[in-house]
Amino acid sequence: MKIIRSIRAFKKRIAAIKQRGLSIGFVPTMGALHKGHLSLMRRARRETDIVVVSIFVNPIQFGPQEDFKQYPRPFRHDITLAQSVNADLVFCPATRAIYPPGFQTIINQSHLPAKLCGRSRPAHFQGVMTVVAKLFNLVQPDTAYFGQKDYQQALIIKQMVRELNMNLRIKTLPTVREEDGLAMSSRNAYLKPEERQYAPCLYRALSRGKTLIKRGEKSAKKIISTMRRIIQNAPNTRIDYIALVDPETLTDIKRLGQQKVLIALAVHVGTTRLIDNMLVMPK
Ligand code: AMP
Repeated sequence: MKIIRSIRAFKKRIAAIKQRGLSIGFVPTMGALHKGHLSLMRRARRETDIVVVSIFVNPIQFGPQEDFKQYPRPFRHDITLAQSVNADLVFCPATRAIYPPGFQTIINQSHLPAKLCGRSRPAHFQGVMTVVAKLFNLVQPDTAYFGQKDYQQALIIKQMVRELNMNLRIKTLPTVREEDGLAMSSRNAYLKPEERQYAPCLYRALSRGKTLIKRGEKSAKKIISTMRRIIQNAPNTRIDYIALVDPETLTDIKRLGQQKVLIALAVHVGTTRLIDNMLVMPK
């Protein structure tokens, strides 16, 4: 497995791969790798010739009060994990290589980034889109792999790829969970032991919401208030949002019909903000 930091060297390597006509599978990450990331890499390994993983903690997707500085960077361990699933290439550019002084190009969308997480993280998705577009240009993947855990992110990226005529396929893979249902996340490392104990309340709330929908409950308000109680019963939690939305437009659904619903939530457990979601087909 090759580890490359410089953009120049990376471009050279990609050109050689392209020259040989090999397909590229790409898994963009911010490092602090876990089994969720590895499931994406394994799928890329099965489906494409060359697996490229990027590790880049993207400063412009963090708000001024957010955790960019503290974000975990266990680089050696990440390399070992990427190696364990036979990734071919790890690209880990320096911040100043991606954003040289004077950098001013930002990619944005008019609607989706303002929904759900965008309400409390206003510049987050434009930061994500900008870095992902840059990485797509550098990696030139045939397929890029994203996790459903960050549903809104994957939806926005798909829209960007479609609307900017980018020449690749996006695949979204299921959320990998701990045994108690907690969605794996690099930020779980922030949780204190007692917070970790209560953190599965997100999953329990989602599961309850899903059950209610499957039983025929049509009122989003009722479903959300049941979910809210489950979260509030866990100590030291603060709800950012709980929403039932259309999976394509992310607009609120008030009364459920026959169509698919995305249940999504963001909750602060202690000082750690966690997100999770479930896609539910009413019947
Ligand atoms: P991150 O390093 O958190 O930016 O995530 C990199 C990629 O891994 C994104 O596509 C995430 O959606 C995906 N990912 C993160 N957590 C999980 C998980 N628990 N299961 C599946 N994919 C995940």
